[in-house]
Amino acid sequence: MNPYLLTGPAQIGVSGGRTSGHMLWKILEAHGGKLPKDAHAFFQNTGKEREETLVFIDAMAKHWGVNIVWMEWCRVYGQPDEAPWYKIVDFETASRNGEPFTMMLEYYEAYRKAEKNLPAVLPNFSNNMCTAYLKVKIGEKHMRALGYDEWDCIVGIRYDEPRRYSRMMTANERGNARWDSVCPSYVAGIIKEDVAAFWAEQPFDLGMDSDYGNCDLCWKKNEAKLIRTIQEDPSSVIWWSGTEERFGQVFRQDRPNYRALAWSADQRARQTDFDFDYLAEDIGCFCGD
Ligand code: SF4
Repeated sequence: MNPYLLTGPAQIGVSGGRTSGHMLWKILEAHGGKLPKDAHAFFQNTGKEREETLVFIDAMAKHWGVNIVWMEWCRVYGQPDEAPWYKIVDFETASRNGEPFTMMLEYYEAYRKAEKNLPAVLPNFSNNMCTAYLKVKIGEKHMRALGYDEWDCIVGIRYDEPRRYSRMMTANERGNARWDSVCPSYVAGIIKEDVAAFWAEQPFDLGMDSDYGNCDLCWKKNEAKLIRTIQEDPSSVIWWSGTEERFGQVFRQDRPNYRALAWSADQRARQTDFDFDYLAEDIGCFCGD
């Protein structure tokens, strides 16, 4: 059976990367160019994605005639139950300065203080609350708002990403969620080169290196990627270093904070032969490509 054929209610994760875009196309193709009525494509905007990502998602919707729902976290801690957790936005109205991300961090800070009497914390490897709240939770809220109790979560993971696939399958086996993650591109044996070949044939593309995808300076990216991004756009570090200073915490304990990374980027920009290789250990991001 074609792995891109959906068999029931489905939430299709569109992260704004080439892999999930390719997956969306293959799903459309498998269904004669239109999503089945029980399938819903979502993009959960953190406000820290680069403009190229937003343009790319908008182009997919327009070129392929597919509805991609854009949503953003908008919850304040202590609001009544009926207050919304997310709002629907579009290309024009989407946040571009980290507003949903900041709101979620404020929510989490207030929650920890009120219910645990603990200080603020930023996303980290033992508490990945940015993916959990900004992506997973509001996606689930929207599926429930559409009337679903159970559904499949369709995630863009390729065959050459076995560790990410294995983590998804382990989560399925634990059965904590009301959905199973399904990875049709993994099942179809799609690798990075297949995705690149697909986009080379399209009239539009992401328009930047995939390394710059997801949140621009995501704390899971390796140091070399962060330094390159900061060198290209020094203003990109302002939100990240400001967030660390404001909450009195760091995203990563195992390397310099964002302020120091900015300094490092500036210093290294003055050196023409700096070897980035030793900084290039990357951590796979659950938010997907
Ligand atoms: S891309 Fe990184 S920073 Fe952004 S939501 Fe995902 S894990 Fe968090």
